[in-house]
Amino acid sequence: MPRLWWTFPKVAKILGLNFKDRWLRLRITLKSLFHNDFVDWTYICDTLMEPIFWFVENFTAVLGPILVIMVVALTAILVFIAYYIGFPYWWEKSPITTIVLLIVGNWLLINVIFHYYMGVKTPAGYPPQGGLIPEAVSICKKCIKPKPPRTHHCSICDKCVLKMDHHCPWLNNCVGHYNHRHFFQYMAFTVMGVTFIMIFGVEIAYQEFFPAQDPDLDGHPVRINNSEIIPMTENMDHLSPEEIAEIAYRVELARDKEWRRRIIIFAGLICVATFVALGSLTFWHAGLIARGETSIEARINSTEIIRYKTLGKIYKNPYDFGTRKNWILFLGLRGRSWRHILLPSNHGPYGDGQTWETIHDKLIVNNKTI
Ligand SMILES: [Zn+2]
Ligand SMILES: [Zn+2]
Repeated sequence: MPRLWWTFPKVAKILGLNFKDRWLRLRITLKSLFHNDFVDWTYICDTLMEPIFWFVENFTAVLGPILVIMVVALTAILVFIAYYIGFPYWWEKSPITTIVLLIVGNWLLINVIFHYYMGVKTPAGYPPQGGLIPEAVSICKKCIKPKPPRTHHCSICDKCVLKMDHHCPWLNNCVGHYNHRHFFQYMAFTVMGVTFIMIFGVEIAYQEFFPAQDPDLDGHPVRINNSEIIPMTENMDHLSPEEIAEIAYRVELARDKEWRRRIIIFAGLICVATFVALGSLTFWHAGLIARGETSIEARINSTEIIRYKTLGKIYKNPYDFGTRKNWILFLGLRGRSWRHILLPSNHGPYGDGQTWETIHDKLIVNNKTI
């Protein structure tokens, strides 16, 4: 018995030490399995977003053609509504204004169609098949080939893309060196187009939903209020055939009005949704272009700015030549007039997308210094 008294606290101590030792070992093992020196919030967010990336990678290629058909169908419906509702309204009001609106509206429409077509059909630009490139900055882990500067691998297209911006499911194409301008101009002209429809359609919608009282209806057996037909009398037996025909005509008119209202609401919703979604995207891309960076580079540059700051240095985007020059380069305006931007033009971008001048070099385009 006395021996028990002596050894029991010892056993507890041994077990305690053993438990502590095992716990430490388990922690080290777990940490060695999951530890990563580069873990930060961006890394954690990327990992959490992995299921979404997986979905996008696997289904964007399938969704692409459906979305292209959707864009074409919605544009066609909107144009039809503009002609069906807007044209007769403005023509009755002022033929001269209507002609001006027809010119402006069709100028916007032609640009929208042209840049969308070019955005879908123009290949974004890829490094040469043989892998022989004038300048390589890294090796693509997927293609196992050298990558030119500003080139990134698109997991949906499964190839490297020159000056890749992003893979656009609405174009069913990658946005890169050769079609970046068409992508941006499509967005800009579409936003202008829906703004145009909203400005010249708001008056029509207002009159449709808040109509002035029709004096002809006073004392009539039926009243049409907000397209709702309200019979003013229960018994219509006493009405003459002319009056019954008039009621039938008014009922038909009310149905027409209902149809008109529905398409006006539909057009309004499409315009507002496009204006908000595409408007903010255009605004954001305009900022990127002004800073001389792509969507991918914006992420890289923001990380670099923080990294340099911790080192007590200032990071400078090597492709940022100042707002004006960045826009000239992006729009391919060197040696060209604004006509090439305001009217459909298929002029290509500067360079082959494989070599890039930086702020550290003397900027030479077509052997001329900007
Ligand atoms: Zn690649
Ligand atoms: Zn792609």
